[in-house]
Amino acid sequence: MSDGFSEIASGLCAIARGFHARGWLLGTSGNLSAVVQREPLQLAMSPSGVDKGELKPEQLLSIDENARVGSGHAGKPSDESLLHLRIVKERGAGAVLHTHSVWNTIVSDLYVAQGGLNIEGYEMLKGLQGVRTHEHTEWLPIIENSQDMPALAESIAEMLSKHNDVHGFLLRRHGLYSWGETLAQAKRHIEIFEFLLETIGRSLHIHGKYTGV
Ligand SMILES: [Zn+2]
Repeated sequence: MSDGFSEIASGLCAIARGFHARGWLLGTSGNLSAVVQREPLQLAMSPSGVDKGELKPEQLLSIDENARVGSGHAGKPSDESLLHLRIVKERGAGAVLHTHSVWNTIVSDLYVAQGGLNIEGYEMLKGLQGVRTHEHTEWLPIIENSQDMPALAESIAEMLSKHNDVHGFLLRRHGLYSWGETLAQAKRHIEIFEFLLETIGRSLHIHGKYTGV
């Protein structure tokens, strides 16, 4: 492993352990990636079928722009590698993180009929890059889930081209995707969205309605 790859791989493992401890990556679910270099594109990507609470830097895969695993790496890349690559290409992201939490799963089902949900009025919105005030309205799109990854990657690219300013999206009854210019920014965005989605879900449970929309 190159020094750059090792450092990024260690960073991804630390985030995976933290997210797993919070219950956002249980049962080998979810995946994480970060750009190692742009030309030619190389990503450090979590492998398929590995417990994210015990992920080790040497298990991280090096993949190219077609999700092919680089030489010297055993292991299978996640089926969702294509989605990570598409987000990197469409957004110029430096890292893409994907969680399967209880609250993001619940909320992804509740607002699917309207194609997403507006989140507004929360101080925590200011943790999203470029947001300066709690009065910001954040549109969080919801895309129907699919096992056809090339088709799903196309749906995501289409949605991203329509919504230039979104910081993430939900896959219905599946999970949350967010990204950032850096790994630290992508981690922050996931934490912000997970906080907001749990707040929305709990508010609905307590009040019988979501007051933030
Ligand atoms: Zn997933």
